[in-house]
Amino acid sequence: MADSCTQCGKCCLHMKRYMLIERSIGDSQHFCHFTLTKERFFARIGGEDLVRYQNRHGMNQFPDACPFLRPAGNESFCCTIYSSRPEHCRRFFCA
Ligand code: SF4
Ligand code: SF4
Repeated sequence: MADSCTQCGKCCLHMKRYMLIERSIGDSQHFCHFTLTKERFFARIGGEDLVRYQNRHGMNQFPDACPFLRPAGNESFCCTIYSSRPEHCRRFFCA
């Protein structure tokens, strides 16, 4: 995401269809397939992000969101696999 990212979450709210979790080891490690680019990657979640990931409160109203997206307060969102997110997400810049 761009440095000017406001964490509005709009770029992640309809990504569920592309983010396939193929296998999980508990809540903190996930073998994933990002089908849009056919990238396979290993997602790790730790610390505060793991607490956020385990709490789906507030996500029911966003059924199409990426499974790793969570609310971060003040109408913003955070990526709970930010350091291990797929290349598509690293390269994405919104206008
Ligand atoms: S990169 Fe995504 S979360 Fe950040 S401002 Fe753009 S649309 Fe919003
Ligand atoms: S992995 Fe992170 S940045 Fe990529 S779509 Fe999911 S929540 Fe958004």
